[in-house]
Amino acid sequence: MQVFWDPVQLAHAPVFFLQRGQLRRNFEVPARAEALLEACQAMGLAITAARLPPRAMLETVHTPAYLDFLQHGHAAWQALPDHGAEIVANIHPAPEMLANGGRLPSGIVGQAGWFTADAACPIGPDTWPAIHAAAAGALAAAAVVAAGGSAYALARPPGHHAYAARAGGHCYLNNAALAAQQLRALGAARVAVLDIDSHHGNGTKGIFWDRDDVLCVSVHADPNRYYPWYVGHEDERGGGSGAGFTLNLPLEFGTADAGWLEAIGQGIVEIFRFRADALVVSLGFDASQDEPLAALAVSADGFARAGAAIGGLRLPAAIVQEGGYNIDIIGRLLTRFLTEFAG
Ligand SMILES: [Zn+2]
Repeated sequence: MQVFWDPVQLAHAPVFFLQRGQLRRNFEVPARAEALLEACQAMGLAITAARLPPRAMLETVHTPAYLDFLQHGHAAWQALPDHGAEIVANIHPAPEMLANGGRLPSGIVGQAGWFTADAACPIGPDTWPAIHAAAAGALAAAAVVAAGGSAYALARPPGHHAYAARAGGHCYLNNAALAAQQLRALGAARVAVLDIDSHHGNGTKGIFWDRDDVLCVSVHADPNRYYPWYVGHEDERGGGSGAGFTLNLPLEFGTADAGWLEAIGQGIVEIFRFRADALVVSLGFDASQDEPLAALAVSADGFARAGAAIGGLRLPAAIVQEGGYNIDIIGRLLTRFLTEFAG
């Protein structure tokens, strides 16, 4: 299996992170990618840096104003008096403000709040090149899939919490959505996104909410107790012509292999019924029993069985990396998943 990875993705090294009222070090660190890369090398997979996509390709999913913010916002931030090292919002437009005519301001502090959902997506001087390269990998993986193969995009930073015009939860550009949209552009009539990260893939779902050509299935921990908190419930099924093309499968905290695999199986049945031509897998490892987030309790065997089950769909797949923060185990989980997927 072809792997897409660019060393420039290591340059993004966020520091700021806020959790339960405490300032902590960000755990979406470059070492995550190094651990996954090492696993790919040990598997003997071909690893390639993808060519950077033209801006127009990013605009198939993201708005021009948002892309400008991601690319140029940090320069404006640096011009602020007494500024921190990274863009972190300290205000977001409240729904009441938006209902009363609230609009995008020209100042970078207000823009930061407009274009981010939370404090978990700090933007530093090297964020743009890294997220651009991660997106390039996902788009290159989509091109492989369009030709009938499967590929793994070592996308770091991840993407599934990013909306068309909003960063959040360590995510900036939605790599999986870009891959799905690219597959549509390259001729797939119906694309399914299967998100097995332990967090709801809210950004991807939001991007395709009113579409019937991209089915979004997300298996994740109960949002009542877990990021992204407000969405990810079973009754969110899509809107307009997209009604019925979103499937959320939230799980109780502590769900282990059996319940997790059953939900993935349910998603697979839905993808089969949808008659998808191509698949995008948002692959997170934070459902692992060894994760610091400890929401779900999936074993390494569970990830292997998930790989086998998803591979059993026999669909060309762009496997796009999302979360997973235990650096000591994510390489092994990737190896188990990809080996069984290809089996
Ligand atoms: Zn996650």
